[in-house]
Amino acid sequence: MKAVVYQGDRTLSVMDVPDASIEEPTDALVRITTTNICGSDLHMYEGRAGVDEGTVFGHENMGVVEEVGPGVTRVKKGDRVSVPFNVACGSCRSCNEGWTSFCERTNPQEGMQGAAYGYANMGPYRGGQADYLRVPYADFNLLTLPPGDEHETDFTMLSDIFPTGWHGVALSGFRAGDRVAIMGAGPVGLMAAHSARIMGAQEVFVVDQHPDRLRLAREIDCTPVDFSAGDPVQQIMDATGGKGVDRGVEAVGWQAHDSTGDEHPELTIDNLVQVVKVHGGIGVVGVFVPKDPDSPGVGAKEGRIGWDYGTFFTKGQQMGTGQAPVKRYNRMQRDLILDGRAAPSFIVSHEVPLAEAPDAYDHFDRRDDGWTKVLLKPSA
Ligand code: NAD
Ligand code: ZN
Ligand code: ZN
Repeated sequence: MKAVVYQGDRTLSVMDVPDASIEEPTDALVRITTTNICGSDLHMYEGRAGVDEGTVFGHENMGVVEEVGPGVTRVKKGDRVSVPFNVACGSCRSCNEGWTSFCERTNPQEGMQGAAYGYANMGPYRGGQADYLRVPYADFNLLTLPPGDEHETDFTMLSDIFPTGWHGVALSGFRAGDRVAIMGAGPVGLMAAHSARIMGAQEVFVVDQHPDRLRLAREIDCTPVDFSAGDPVQQIMDATGGKGVDRGVEAVGWQAHDSTGDEHPELTIDNLVQVVKVHGGIGVVGVFVPKDPDSPGVGAKEGRIGWDYGTFFTKGQQMGTGQAPVKRYNRMQRDLILDGRAAPSFIVSHEVPLAEAPDAYDHFDRRDDGWTKVLLKPSA
């Protein structure tokens, strides 16, 4: 089968790899119909995440079940499914508590909890930017969807970023009527903005510097804030009569930079600490990965960042962090899409054949104008 394979910094090829297959009785084999490129893939693509050459990328997957193992009873051949990016067992302590993003069984690496497809340090699972994907614990992990191809571009957001955006808002302690500031108008930030709107936010500020991304924020009735036009904290303070916001969502991660392009991983968290009210809350879903001394890729960046903890403490704020437990949100979000009350596909800018993945990664990596979210279409 064909797959998108990492060959070194900013180098991918679409090539033949051994076919994915059922390996355990609880596995399913999914024929991929749509698989997305994610900002998280760029951590590996740009060489920040110490990923091995030969890795097949792809953790945002959906498709049709081709085959199931003998231990799979709920999911059937022919079912249309969304595959949460978390590979979870369904029965460990974390899974029992609803934290599938911290599954204690599926990542064999010492000291690591939580696994994902096609991702550095997230277990041995091949990604789905390919014709087929092996899905462990299929009965637990797979979300079934109505048959056919309706809502394909909305449903493909259910594997990661729509749940992740919602999670960012939930981690902030959001309540209906709150004002929210979201750092980053990438796909994750825009999904957080869409979520906050659906959840009943009074006003949603979305901070970025890319005009095309800020325009999308305006299209969903949010207030764009261009940080290249001046201090975003001051802009939000001015717009709120000095009150600031109740909640903040960090959707940038360790590549946060100032308007000249200099990277400052602490910048977005510091901005939120300043703009969120006393006793307000902050949800961090942008990825900050700790330094792994054994990994030269990760070692190029420190996991330890200096941020304004003093102000955070003085203001009595709360913070929630981490990878999103997709299963907590994806059923509800699927039904919101079916009811016409959510339409996350507004961020999709490109749908291209899998064979064009290297070119699409290049555009998305450069944040080229208009390349907001790219969907890859395998042809098997
Ligand atoms: P992206 O890189 O496309 O978007 C990030 C955006 O942040 C860009 O538009 C960039 O211009 C903007 N930005 C940079 N510096 C900024 C600053 N100082 N202030 C405001 N905006 C700034 O990526 P994405 O796909 O939207 O993902 C965002 C983050 O979310 C990444 O770190 C990704 O790894 C992470 N992520 C986390 C989870 C999770 O489960 N927690 C899941 C998916 C993605
Ligand atoms: Zn993703
Ligand atoms: Zn588990």
